[in-house]
Amino acid sequence: MPADIENILERLSRSKFRGRFCLKAKDKDYVRQKGLKTIRRHAEDFIAKRIAPARISNDGRQTPMKGHPVFVAQHATACCCRQCISKWHGFMPGTELTAEQQKYLTDVIMRWIEIQNQSPYAAPSPVDIIPKRREKPRTAVSGDSRRQKNRQYPTENLLI
Ligand SMILES: [Zn+2]
Repeated sequence: MPADIENILERLSRSKFRGRFCLKAKDKDYVRQKGLKTIRRHAEDFIAKRIAPARISNDGRQTPMKGHPVFVAQHATACCCRQCISKWHGFMPGTELTAEQQKYLTDVIMRWIEIQNQSPYAAPSPVDIIPKRREKPRTAVSGDSRRQKNRQYPTENLLI
């Protein structure tokens, strides 16, 4: 994997906002069921349709916070909208993303998903340990500083 992708993922994991995102058990199951190739096709499709065009009427709101592992990965990797992409990846808004730029963003997203899915630190968070049947999934972005303090990944994942 190119060093620049590892670098950007490492920097993202140190961002308070970005570093909070992680794949829930349900997302990981979905990735395993579909396989990484299929997930990559989904990522390519989301990037091409929601992110790549020069003009996006709902930019900043086009990527849901949950509902697909790629959506979660997009927020974690700042590939969620053109403003975030501009800030973190340096591709200016207002122009269509090239095939090469789209591939790079897809690579970043897929690497993040791979790390989330493979890492031994993909241990359940304290909340996820509660038996599934009784637990209502929480959104990745709901604020809870107490819980946030206990979070140990993904920073450590990325340093392996
Ligand atoms: Zn964004």
